[in-house]
Amino acid sequence: MTQRRPLFAANWKMNLRRADAETYADRLLRELPDPMPGEIVLFPPFTLLPALAQRLDRSSIAWGGQDLHPEDAGAHTGDISALHLTDWGASWVLCGHSERRAEHGESDAQIAAKVAQAQRRGLVPLLCVGETAAEREAGRTEAVLRAQLSAALPPAGGPWALAYEPVWAIGTGRTATPDLAQEAHALLRAAVAERLGTGAAGELRILYGGSVKPDNAGELFARPDLDGFLVGGASLDPGSFLDIIRRSVR
Ligand code: PEP
Repeated sequence: MTQRRPLFAANWKMNLRRADAETYADRLLRELPDPMPGEIVLFPPFTLLPALAQRLDRSSIAWGGQDLHPEDAGAHTGDISALHLTDWGASWVLCGHSERRAEHGESDAQIAAKVAQAQRRGLVPLLCVGETAAEREAGRTEAVLRAQLSAALPPAGGPWALAYEPVWAIGTGRTATPDLAQEAHALLRAAVAERLGTGAAGELRILYGGSVKPDNAGELFARPDLDGFLVGGASLDPGSFLDIIRRSVR
């Protein structure tokens, strides 16, 4: 069986300020297990990228953007390009977070273009997929996940990661049960195998996101197809993000 390196990602969304970013980075550097049995990525608001770049340079902690535009440059007021992200040492980028899909009307086609642009410019895309409560209740979970995945699937070979984030669990305090999460992760891995082959699917890291906290992290992480977490609310406090990591990779 392929040994996948655990991956823990913090999505700060539109939270925290410059001083917070600095103390957060310093605390992670001080308290992360050494050696770190996994990979850590922080997704701050864009304006905090320089603070992380300064603090985390030459560390094993990576950082990335919460979004990117599919083009390198142009008349796109308010958008950010992959080149702006890489200027500040970013190596990852979120693509298709459900808040971008819902609040900014991002389509599967736009998300596919962002994933492709990320890979073209040397960023690792973390593609987010997930069903809404209404879709789950209507028995459409599998169809929705397959459609979101196949629309934005990167070509074989390029680095990427996938996050299963049921929309009904994001920021709601309602976490997927370990069984439900495992079922969705297994389904996604099988769908990737159909398209990219079992080797690529076996190597792909699939993160769970949706109200992950120190209390539920260990039980979720124990499931075989869960390779780490994309954490929103609980990642705003470095202490609870560290606890999530410690309880997963004990
Ligand atoms: C997220 O926004 O990616 C997320 C999982 O948020 P939360 O942990 O707050 O549910």
